[in-house]
Amino acid sequence: MSNLIFKGQQNNYPTTSDFGEERSFWPYYGKKHEGIDMRGNKKTQVFCEINGVIKERYDQKNSYGKKLLIKTNLGYLTKELEGCILYQLYGHLFKYDTKVKLGKFIEAGSLLGLMGNSGNCYTKDPNTGIYVPVTEKQQNNENFNEGVHLHLSFMTELKNKKLLEYIKEKLNLKNELLFLDQWGYYYWLNPKYVYDFLNLFN
Ligand SMILES: [Zn+2]
Repeated sequence: MSNLIFKGQQNNYPTTSDFGEERSFWPYYGKKHEGIDMRGNKKTQVFCEINGVIKERYDQKNSYGKKLLIKTNLGYLTKELEGCILYQLYGHLFKYDTKVKLGKFIEAGSLLGLMGNSGNCYTKDPNTGIYVPVTEKQQNNENFNEGVHLHLSFMTELKNKKLLEYIKEKLNLKNELLFLDQWGYYYWLNPKYVYDFLNLFN
């Protein structure tokens, strides 16, 4: 089993969908991709990128599937960012590692689970050539490798103005590298630049 870790521009997964890409298929027409999709084989190990606490761990059907939402207070980087929250979202897992429990603190580099195709993952229908959702039965089949990928997003709440300004200023970023969700609650950040930002404090 290969151990692949995403580190922004050092990403060694084949990317199947980039941040901000507009979706051209149902039910996502015109919606921007709020993270990055990386292909791997089913059961490839997925590791935690940044220290944080597990806030959500459940199967979000018709969406991210088996997902994890991890919350980090960036005050550990610098006092200035105390209270600024960054979330990591991992989607479409096959299964969670047994140590991954709701409310638990998890360290960067720890095993989170195994890559899968739970939730809304698509595969090409061999008869029509059209992309169709992977069914639950296929998702539970250990050997069904179609549509397997890791979805990774980083986001921050809108109220974290300080963090957004900080990221833009320090990285000289323009708005297209982050965008607001349709409910106006979260800012999604381009995963590529999250690491440039964190590396400022190394
Ligand atoms: Zn995705």
